[in-house]
Amino acid sequence: MKILAIGRNYAAHIEELNNERPEAPVVFFKPDTALLRNNEPFYYPDFSNEVHFEVEILLKISKTGKHVQKKYASTYYDQIGIGIDFTARDLQQHAKKKGLPWALAKGFNHSAPISSFYPINHFGDIHSLNFGLEIDGVVRQKGNTGMMLFSFDQIIVYISQFVTLKKGDIVFTGTPEGVGPVSIGNRLSAFIEDLTLLEFEVK
Ligand code: MG
Repeated sequence: MKILAIGRNYAAHIEELNNERPEAPVVFFKPDTALLRNNEPFYYPDFSNEVHFEVEILLKISKTGKHVQKKYASTYYDQIGIGIDFTARDLQQHAKKKGLPWALAKGFNHSAPISSFYPINHFGDIHSLNFGLEIDGVVRQKGNTGMMLFSFDQIIVYISQFVTLKKGDIVFTGTPEGVGPVSIGNRLSAFIEDLTLLEFEVK
């Protein structure tokens, strides 16, 4: 399986990092070794002094898709979850300055803690889902999928022009504003509506 991720998909987050608003989805990848499951702790890596949290809604791809047409896009994902796109912001800023890829800043081991996945009909209207992240009991990020620049379906259409989607692939759909650093000892809990679906500690 592969992990596809979208950057700069919420306007207020683009502004907080002084990035440009993209004309097309900004796509990057994480390897399968980035996954962290079952609420296992995240161990702070020694190569970064600034690991940022980014809470994101996840899609689970349900079948093979190439050049998917818009009208069929919603049939290519059938489950939703929530995850953290951990980013070594110091490494990423360095890479951006030099025009180099973000691969290691975004793809390092356990940079993708994920919840279990739930069928879409578990949630009501997925185009207006509230979600967010609490750290040590304080809400740090809050978003609504209605505020995405590129919708779930637009993301599927776009990515599948370049990369074949396969059953079991996971798509990180972008983070709302409020990103910031984590510290050892923090307890993160990510929610969709009033359900806490992911909860783990930074060690
Ligand atoms: Mg992200």
